[in-house]
Amino acid sequence: MAVADGDSCAHDVVFAGMCCQCHRNVSSLAENMARQRPGFLTTSLDLQVSASLLSSLDAAEQLRRASQKKLVLIIDLDHTLVTADVRDIRNASAGLRVRKRPGVDGFLQGMKDTCDMYVYTQATGAYAQRVLQILDPRSSFFGDPPRIFHRGNTPQGLKDLAQILPNDASHALVVDDREEVWPSAVRESQLLKVVPYLPFPGDARQSVDFEGFLTGSNRAREPPRTEEDTKRQKIEEPVAFCDLDWPGRTRDDQFEHLGDILRKLHEAVFPATDDGQGGSVASTLPVLRRKTLQGCRLCLTGFCGAASEVPKGSNKSLLGLGAVMVRTPDDATHVVAARRTEKWARAQALQREGRVFLVHPGWLLYAAVTWQRPCELKPSDCQVLFPIWLLLSLTP
Ligand SMILES: [Zn+2]
Repeated sequence: MAVADGDSCAHDVVFAGMCCQCHRNVSSLAENMARQRPGFLTTSLDLQVSASLLSSLDAAEQLRRASQKKLVLIIDLDHTLVTADVRDIRNASAGLRVRKRPGVDGFLQGMKDTCDMYVYTQATGAYAQRVLQILDPRSSFFGDPPRIFHRGNTPQGLKDLAQILPNDASHALVVDDREEVWPSAVRESQLLKVVPYLPFPGDARQSVDFEGFLTGSNRAREPPRTEEDTKRQKIEEPVAFCDLDWPGRTRDDQFEHLGDILRKLHEAVFPATDDGQGGSVASTLPVLRRKTLQGCRLCLTGFCGAASEVPKGSNKSLLGLGAVMVRTPDDATHVVAARRTEKWARAQALQREGRVFLVHPGWLLYAAVTWQRPCELKPSDCQVLFPIWLLLSLTP
């Protein structure tokens, strides 16, 4: 701790721009920029502490969590825990219909003894607080006041773990239906992707992120670039094989699978024989996830981004499952087909010879959100988790 000197102040705690020790207004002083909110203790931007106090608070929190064998779980709200009916937005004064995802109560209850839980949403604070009144009426999961990071107390743009853990975020786990809202380092080693919960028809969510890639909804935005692209578009079936907008969908097993994954991770980070600090989430998660499709050589066909067949962002999440990407059906163990293409036709011939599995895009999404390799011969396995796939023409 330093002492105030002339026009500077290097004290530890500033509240709403005022130093708690020398009582000076420090908001315009350059050194105030170095102070940060200890997000793991408060959601208020009014409280800012020095780097040295932050690191001792953080060390104390890490010790407490290690002694209680607790992980930090940062959970998205919309399409992950609940979904709002956006058709109601025009008539918002009448209230917004929000549906809880099946299994959410049991999931939160099951995680509260092994995880410190935070909500991180790009929605407004007022909306998030209303939703938490429904999800957590006794404040037993997210605390009181609730630990909600939202549009009003976080910066715009990508979500940022440093908002909650500014010192060391390597032990945090993220649960989100959208990968693209996180920086790539978080996606690769700390993010657990879930399938978006889509109980209302016409939800635009299915057109973005990994699902937009799988359903081909974002394909229309890309004009053909080469002669080969044009030829390919003529050959391909205009209708994609999958559609997440499935009216009357009620079944949803995502939280059962997520609970299994989190228990596995918890065991690996805090082994029963170890009474020390616990391992690192960021180094444990990728190793476990890579086992999912280990040994599989995937050839993707009929997806958007025809030139490379695998767009950059999705590439990472596909590789995170441990599969190797190949260009031709002849080199593959699995051909994942989103439409009828030349490669799809070749894969049908190879499948008849027992040399390859021809699978639906839902097979890939299932693997990504359950960390299990679904049975290739029973696509109905995937339908148990999300009965959303149009099983068109995967068999001759
Ligand atoms: Zn001061």
